[in-house]
Amino acid sequence: MIDGLDETHDASRRSFVASANDPDGDFPIQNLPLGIFSRGPNGRRGVGVAIGDRIFDLAGARHAGLIRSVSGDAIGQDSLNALFALGNQQLRLLRKEVSRLLDEDPAGQATRDALAKCLVPMSECTMHRPTDVANYTDFYAGIHHARAAGALLTPENPLPANYKWVPIAYHGRASSVQAGGGEVRRPLGQRPPLQAGGAPSFGACERLDFELEIGFYVSGGNALGDPVPISGAASHIAGYSLLNDWSARDVQRWEMFPLGPFLSKSFATSVSPWVVTADALMPFRTAAMPRGDGDPKPLPYLWNDDDQANGGLNIDLEVSLSTAKMRKANEREVRILTSNARYLYWTPAQMVAHHTINGCNLKAGDLIGTGTISGPSDAELSSMLEFTKGGTQPVTLPNGEKRSFLLDGDRITFRGRCRCDGFSSIGFGLCVGTIISERQTPN
Ligand code: MN
Repeated sequence: MIDGLDETHDASRRSFVASANDPDGDFPIQNLPLGIFSRGPNGRRGVGVAIGDRIFDLAGARHAGLIRSVSGDAIGQDSLNALFALGNQQLRLLRKEVSRLLDEDPAGQATRDALAKCLVPMSECTMHRPTDVANYTDFYAGIHHARAAGALLTPENPLPANYKWVPIAYHGRASSVQAGGGEVRRPLGQRPPLQAGGAPSFGACERLDFELEIGFYVSGGNALGDPVPISGAASHIAGYSLLNDWSARDVQRWEMFPLGPFLSKSFATSVSPWVVTADALMPFRTAAMPRGDGDPKPLPYLWNDDDQANGGLNIDLEVSLSTAKMRKANEREVRILTSNARYLYWTPAQMVAHHTINGCNLKAGDLIGTGTISGPSDAELSSMLEFTKGGTQPVTLPNGEKRSFLLDGDRITFRGRCRCDGFSSIGFGLCVGTIISERQTPN
């Protein structure tokens, strides 16, 4: 048995919530992701667990005496920060308890009637940002993306000389992280001069893009000055979501030298609202991406044999696009690319070890993005920049529309799914964002 597996991963376990037993559903009893929901957009926010097409209200369940593994303080909140601050051992106890309660044959004194009172139809709920994100960091660990985007943005130096030594990242903007489902307003900004030495133009971004990434949330945290060793880094990750790092490519190309992206990224980042816990993902761990012949071995603080053997993630990813015209004609969204989280040159544990090696303190609820996860083939290029070759090769949609970059009304949907023989397949739910037109230029 893989280390960390327990009865909650047992594929034969079924739930009394019938919709959770649909093999094509994202949220079987083996998943149990955490999120923040309210009944209706303005209802009181609380911590919930997705089960089939229902949300299990943890505060309600604790109030009814059904949940005993964690304190009311940790789950009576409008964000997951306090729960994640308890650390992964506590999260595992909660997972075991919820798994027993939602079982076909609920444990102990819990009756189906009492439990049913804590189940809310997902369709009646609004999902919110999972944590109160104090800090957001975005890595650049997708090496196929780094190569492809580098060839377009910095052809003279496509893969930076430091790439195979340093897990490269920048500090992103936390305040504009939003739960997917909403609208993303086209940003205004400076667009690059048409000729070298010329003046930039100003206006709405003309090269609006998405980036397919995984995001993960910090649990526990570390004190300032106290690096997290790589051997313990995985236990500082509470769970994972899909993450869309919306990008204004024209603004980015002009502003990013020498300090990196700023306004081209800070206008919006979308995350899928459910956090699939590190425990739920245990069966889907895989070896770290193999390093090419001749690649340097990372420095010791970034190297751990167990992390190399099991620190990668096998998550199938896909991106779909629907345009306003398609929705008006009742046409289905079209899948534009697929990829897999295994194409990350650095593991999440290496990212945590690197982030803290200088003593930087991570806080429970902080969000870390992996970087765009492109695969080696053309069908796995995970941004418009890459698969339209910088906009020079527009993609033609089934209805004849063409896209180089995103237009107003375009809706981008990310999906993530884990599959492994012998285990129930689990999903991430959706990360959706719809582009709306820019605001009028302020005077
Ligand atoms: Mn990014």
